[in-house]
Amino acid sequence: MQINALRSNQFECHECGHLHEHDISQLYSKVRCAHCEAILHDHSSRWLEKTLALTVAAVIFFIASNVFPFLFVELGGVSYQTNLLSGVTAMLVREQYLLGTLILSTIVIFPLLEILSLAYLSFTYALRKKMPGQKFVLALLTTLRPWSMLEIFLLSIVIALVKMNDFFTLAPGAALFSFFALVFCMIGANRCLNKRELWNWLCPENVFYLEGAKSFAACKQCDALMDTQLLQQHNRCCRCHKPVHARTPMSVQNTLALTAAAAVLYIPANTYPMLYSTRLGSTQGDTIISGVIHLLTSGMWALALIVFFASVFVPILKIVTMAVLLYSVKTGSTRNLKRKTAVYRTIEVIGRWSMIDVFVVVLLVALVQFGVLANVEAGIAVLAFSAVVILTMLATETFDSRLLWDTKR
Ligand SMILES: [Zn+2]
Ligand SMILES: [Zn+2]
Repeated sequence: MQINALRSNQFECHECGHLHEHDISQLYSKVRCAHCEAILHDHSSRWLEKTLALTVAAVIFFIASNVFPFLFVELGGVSYQTNLLSGVTAMLVREQYLLGTLILSTIVIFPLLEILSLAYLSFTYALRKKMPGQKFVLALLTTLRPWSMLEIFLLSIVIALVKMNDFFTLAPGAALFSFFALVFCMIGANRCLNKRELWNWLCPENVFYLEGAKSFAACKQCDALMDTQLLQQHNRCCRCHKPVHARTPMSVQNTLALTAAAAVLYIPANTYPMLYSTRLGSTQGDTIISGVIHLLTSGMWALALIVFFASVFVPILKIVTMAVLLYSVKTGSTRNLKRKTAVYRTIEVIGRWSMIDVFVVVLLVALVQFGVLANVEAGIAVLAFSAVVILTMLATETFDSRLLWDTKR
């Protein structure tokens, strides 16, 4: 089988499937799809210098965040210091292995892998040195992004500290400041890295075909175009080795199953307590809604609004939106395609922020450990709510938005 390869400026919009033809890898401005308004490219000039600087800073801040004390908590003469991993330790001690693993992965393991990947790619590209595993690392970086949740954990820290401020004496440690800096470096480095240019450097050819090719399917990872005839024999991308399909297989069925499971789990997530708090010997359970009401009655309306938005409104929005999109694909509706794609894009971005409440509970469990005086334990709803967030994230990932636009073509 003779596979031909060539370099082309053609690429497909991931959201609507429209084929574009421009050389945008060297452009230093935002480029949007004329059909669905998805952002096709957004990079500033001198991206490499910025990525290198931010990655080096991220390495330093990551080490500092994990080495130094995070927070000093004091109540009635009893005080102790916590570190970034206190939440994980608190979960593991209580045999909450699923939650412990979830927190450890999203705030330590995935961010660490992200930093190492950024460092490996930006340094080898700066030296123009081809090294083993670069394609794998670049692909890994794209996969890890939604599951690395430092910025969400940061907002959870702010909420937990404001909640605790009335009852406890809190003193920040060096790790708290370096964690704030780490979050901004990671967001910056990820935004600056020009993945399109890196793929072009690692493999300049981006169209692979057999003689007599008629139609092509795009790789979602590296934007290469694969001859559909070639995909029947070799269903992986010739450039990055990710499986390529003209449309995600079983997309509607998988999205429907994941959305339905999330909708079912949303009920226990809201009816059972998220946490049990003990104050001066009396224990009370708080559900998501009673937690929001408690924040409102304490005058913390801004926090109440954030928690309500992230924990109540966003999960419902995601479940309803996915149901509407699936119905739209099923009926072949061509109404409001641009708007539907925009809503899908929005829930893809904001969906992960629902993890705020889970992180707040874990932080409170780790920070409030004063026995009968004051104590916080996680409730069963945390696990159900975490599952809702993960299932809806997977549902948006498995949904192929190009199916919405297929009826129009
Ligand atoms: Zn588009
Ligand atoms: Zn690829």
